Amino acid sequence: MTEIKKVVLVTGAARGIGLATAKRFLAEGWLVAMLDIDGPAQEAAVTALKRPEDTLALSADVSEPEAATRTVAAVEARFGRLDALVNNAGTAVFKPLLETTNEEWQRVLAVNLGGPFMMTNAAAPVMAKTGGGAIVNITSISGLRASTLRVAYGTSKAALAHLTKQQAVELAGLGIRVNAVAPGPVETAMAKAVHSPEIRRDYRDTIPLERYGLEEELADAIYYLCSSRSSYVTGQTLAVDGGFEAAGIGLP
Ligand code: NAD
Repeated sequence: MTEIKKVVLVTGAARGIGLATAKRFLAEGWLVAMLDIDGPAQEAAVTALKRPEDTLALSADVSEPEAATRTVAAVEARFGRLDALVNNAGTAVFKPLLETTNEEWQRVLAVNLGGPFMMTNAAAPVMAKTGGGAIVNITSISGLRASTLRVAYGTSKAALAHLTKQQAVELAGLGIRVNAVAPGPVETAMAKAVHSPEIRRDYRDTIPLERYGLEEELADAIYYLCSSRSSYVTGQTLAVDGGFEAAGIGLP
């Protein structure tokens, strides 16, 4: 009998947490579709994996309305099914409220919140055809607390945590679980772009485990929430943050 391989679609998979997540699923024997807005970086990342039979590179902007239906259809055409979706693609603007432009506000909300909404609505019917699956939305500790610099980013991630609950309740009937992972700081390109020396010092002082997280540590949590090991978990946000949230200290 031919073994049926499970299929995951990871957005924002050209680098950082998304790429680490794609590698984790590959190591577990899944087929992996990797989507990114940066087509050349995505192609390079997929080529470097040297698993052409098991991977699919997709170039799209998750905030574009047709991107979700087009890419989910491409995954179904190539692999024949979809078992998990990781809504990881995200963008960050760290600015005070009064300096955040309308364009920045709209872009951050469109990518971080609109993307997971549209990707999920496109993916769920395909997942349902084979009995359901699991979806993980990547939020942030910036959505758990307010701070001076994260009006757009933090609001988008707090809203995504609520969207996760809505999706979990509404998709349970299709056999689809929906959870969120809220990373603490992880040394990726995004962190390099928005974490000032002051933010880094404050994180070091306030994270009980006294370090940034590793991309692989996030990938482990994401994989757990997509695997059958979490079959009774839905509608939750799992903070993977070195104890930052538990310590109850305000964000730097
Ligand atoms: P990253 O910038 O290294 O990677 C993000 C990837 O998403 C990039 O490859 C980028 O090209 C892609 N992307 C951006 N906008 C896109 C779009 N519109 N459509 C498709 N792809 C798009 O960032 P990362 O740190 O790996 O972040 C991954 C997720 O983790 C994000 O949702 C981010 O908000 C979240 N997060 C990161 C941290 C951190 O400290 N790094 C902390 C909390 C949450």
